[in-house]
Amino acid sequence: MDRPRLDELARYDREHFWHPFTQMAEYEPLIIERAQGCTLYDVDGRSYLDGVASLWCNVHGHRHPQLDAALRAQLDRVAHTTALGASNVPAIELARRLAEIAPAGLTHTFFSDSGATAVEVALKLAFQYWRQRRDPRPEKTCYVALGDAYHGDTLGAVSVGGVARFHAMFEPLLFETFRLPSPQIYRSPAGVSADEACAHYLAQAEELLSREHRRIAALVVEPLLQCAAGMIAHPAGYLRGLRELTRRYDVLLIADEVAVGFGRTGRMFACNHEQVVPDLLCLGKGITGGYLPLAATLAGDEIWQAFLGRYEESRQFYHGHTYCGNPLGAAVALASLDVFRDERVIENLPAKAARLREHCSRLAQHPHVGDVRGLGLAWGIELVRDKSTRQAYDWSERRGQLACLEARKQGVLLRPLGNVLVVFPPLAIALDEIDRIMAAVERGIDAATR
Ligand SMILES: *Cc1c(COP(=O)(O)O)cnc(C)c1O
Repeated sequence: MDRPRLDELARYDREHFWHPFTQMAEYEPLIIERAQGCTLYDVDGRSYLDGVASLWCNVHGHRHPQLDAALRAQLDRVAHTTALGASNVPAIELARRLAEIAPAGLTHTFFSDSGATAVEVALKLAFQYWRQRRDPRPEKTCYVALGDAYHGDTLGAVSVGGVARFHAMFEPLLFETFRLPSPQIYRSPAGVSADEACAHYLAQAEELLSREHRRIAALVVEPLLQCAAGMIAHPAGYLRGLRELTRRYDVLLIADEVAVGFGRTGRMFACNHEQVVPDLLCLGKGITGGYLPLAATLAGDEIWQAFLGRYEESRQFYHGHTYCGNPLGAAVALASLDVFRDERVIENLPAKAARLREHCSRLAQHPHVGDVRGLGLAWGIELVRDKSTRQAYDWSERRGQLACLEARKQGVLLRPLGNVLVVFPPLAIALDEIDRIMAAVERGIDAATR
């Protein structure tokens, strides 16, 4: 069949392809046809640097030969076969490799297909664990989550989410969740200083846990960086503190590393920065190098044991997705781990992270940049109307969008979070490509705040 003409493609795109988080009435088609390395090409032949890693998932660049080859080789064997009571070779190998690289003791992997499902799995595992463990605690049925948290868009994940603009409408459908304030500094509701922030926010966590721990199954957190919230960087020591508190109060810790896992923060996992081992670890996005939808929820032995028993005891985890442990996804995820090793990806990050940090520090001087924050290759640049009072632009003014449209004209693809410009390139980005991205960001900021 012939491909539709370009004008037809654009029309079909508007009429038939309902895009996520997109106002379709205003949508202007941007149709990517191919890519190479960190550059995307649209159907008109225009090129764009992939400044947000195709929404936070691309790691080694597009069309990496090793990843492409692994996928083709697996395709010659089998594309999909079920994991319900059966297995496949790459998924077994991947589960084994994840057990080796994950924080110590997280040796059992439950596969699913998106970040949201990885979180759903963790929430349900935690719930079922407390009912089935040797000393059962069936009254532990609630969760704690942070303000402005983002854990995906299925209803369980939305219940522990806290981004008002995405989630408030669905409130009647959600289960009740205890909230801790997001430990932010720039827009701290409590007006605490950077030095006091960690202790202040941990004291609030302790107050809640000491009061409600009997009912709480788990606390879920995006370690170090709440990306979708607008790149909110947590004070150092906060994650470690949460780990100590959740241990003390017998609450499971769920670390959602869907965005920050696989090198994004400069270490393989964000938890590594504070030597934290969560009880459950959620992985997604970068796990396949950004190639295919695959996600994983890792658990330690203590949780695993609570699900073992004879068939008649019905202790198994009653949860699954058709494409659990999909062999293509697993094969490309394995190849991605090989590339991490062969190309010394983590070892090469500090120079790139330093370059990005320098650019961000320079942009922090801009009269309409209120704050820059991030780590590794994940940064947010917050635009404000008034720098001295931190007064925000009204979200309906679309300042972030305007900046990104200008950057797109400069050949850089970005997607903002409200007034926060997000820079989140593939880990394979080159130094001169970082320079080009940041030059476009600067042009974008000028254009949007003029
Ligand atoms: C993107 C994201 C999710 C959801 O992942 P999907 O694959 O979009 O379902 C969950 N948690 C965090 C921290 C994320 O950034």
